[in-house]
Amino acid sequence: MTYLAVPIAAQNLDRARRQIKAALEAGAEILELRTDYLENLTIDSVKNLIAEAKNAAHQPLPIIVTCRDGKQGGARAYPEQLRNEILAEAVRAGCDFIDCEYDNFLSTELQEKIKAALADRSKTRLILSAHDFKSRFEDVNGLYQDILTVCPTAIPKLIYTANHINDCFEAFDLLRNTSGERIVFCMGAAGLVSRIIAKKLDSFVTFASINAEAATAPGQLTIEQLKGLYRCDSIDSDTELFGVIADPVGHSLSPAIHNACFDDKGMNKLYLPLLVEGGRTEFDEFLDNIILREWLSFKGFSVTIPHKQNALDFVKAKDGFIEPLAEKIGAVNTLVVGSGGKLSAYNTDYAAALDAITSTMGITRADLKDLPVAIIGAGGVSRAIVAGLTDAGAKIKIYNRTIKRGEKLAAEFSCDFAPLDDLPNVETKLLINCTSIGMYPNIEATPFPQAGLKKDMLVFDTVYNPAETLLLKQAKQAGAKTIDGLSMFINQALAQFKLFTNTDGNAKLMRKTICDCLSKG
Ligand code: NAP
Repeated sequence: MTYLAVPIAAQNLDRARRQIKAALEAGAEILELRTDYLENLTIDSVKNLIAEAKNAAHQPLPIIVTCRDGKQGGARAYPEQLRNEILAEAVRAGCDFIDCEYDNFLSTELQEKIKAALADRSKTRLILSAHDFKSRFEDVNGLYQDILTVCPTAIPKLIYTANHINDCFEAFDLLRNTSGERIVFCMGAAGLVSRIIAKKLDSFVTFASINAEAATAPGQLTIEQLKGLYRCDSIDSDTELFGVIADPVGHSLSPAIHNACFDDKGMNKLYLPLLVEGGRTEFDEFLDNIILREWLSFKGFSVTIPHKQNALDFVKAKDGFIEPLAEKIGAVNTLVVGSGGKLSAYNTDYAAALDAITSTMGITRADLKDLPVAIIGAGGVSRAIVAGLTDAGAKIKIYNRTIKRGEKLAAEFSCDFAPLDDLPNVETKLLINCTSIGMYPNIEATPFPQAGLKKDMLVFDTVYNPAETLLLKQAKQAGAKTIDGLSMFINQALAQFKLFTNTDGNAKLMRKTICDCLSKG
């Protein structure tokens, strides 16, 4: 059983009351009263706070009382003597758990005080916590054992900072190799995933805040994120994991759309944002960590900037399956993990673009043969579309700002090349923007002169934020047919969903989810 604990971190009773109400409404399963946030901390103010929390809940809700030491993340530097009194009094006031720093508990005086209070009220449990706000513990397993040696009935709580996602695996292993009540996860952006899968790995508690401003530790998620986006109520030890490997990853819409589709189909699957910083070495280490731990049940990944080539190289080195055109593109955006950690690699970008084009034109891929196409841009997306269209026999001319880059791509796929200055003279049936021009926030920009847009053209903008770019608005005004970047984005996500689950995703739900996310900003 993993409880969702919500910290109440308020300067005074009034604010605490509002936070408690919000936490209960949002579905808190434990309230953690962070008494170190109170101004003018006294034993009476803590007793009042406990009473407030007890009265607010319609049914008994477990309460943790914490008076965190300033050295371990406490909000205010209250004297040790007072903090110790507070914990002992919290036991007497009937709270369910007290959280005491393990380091402090080693002092005989405090240990005796707390043990005496607990002896009078056996229902209250002791959480012995250790934090590292800078990095991993030197020996997390040793620390876990030490805590249980000093107090076998305590709930060990070990929280450390992950400076890279690869630092999280030690926490996962500790949860995997132990049982009973223990709380283990990582702080920081790189540790976020450990907070989300705490329930799958049976950590006794995971923490979430009422809102982003009320977070009491780096990387803490909000209740809304944990329950909504990351479906924490549906997670259990059998949940299969998926995720997007990227850096940065915070802006990715993939968790929202895949989780919405898993939810829609009632699937016990969860899609995570996986921040993999660094280059090939760190990427390889991450996937090696995953493959070593089949029990984590990672079944598939979306891969994006900057790891699309790293993913291809990794699968090659492991002798996995690579979709032939993905190898030609030199980048993969989808990995499927088979039994024994066997990997298959695909690129769903080119097929997504081709499907969007053929369905809008009402033709088959075979009909793309000899179709004149002008492509602006020579980056990753351009490369995937150029490879797909070349494979289908289209006649492509690439236009790019950096001439060398454009010429190189054109030569590789036997296409024509021209600099951006030539765009006003373009004669084409299909115009595709593969640059970021027109993307939010630069929505007044367009890569193509308005006068060159004709009504017999199909104009495809791969930019999907906003869904209707200035280029597409002007193309519509000229009477041209258009394809927005969302269609391509949704097609590639649908193809990934199919590879991940062997079933069709819900395209309408994906579009709605993306539009909702983009409108929230
Ligand atoms: P990339 O590899 O960084 O390539 C960017 C391309 O845009 C390059 O050709 C670059 O030209 C050009 N460019 C950027 N700013 C420019 C400017 N101010 N003036 C002229 N050219 C400029 O990026 P990518 O991965 O190919 O992504 C490109 C765009 O595709 C993204 O911005 C995104 O909106 C869109 N996208 C769509 C999907 C989808 O599914 N719909 C998926 C991924 C990306 P240089 O070579 O001269 O630098």
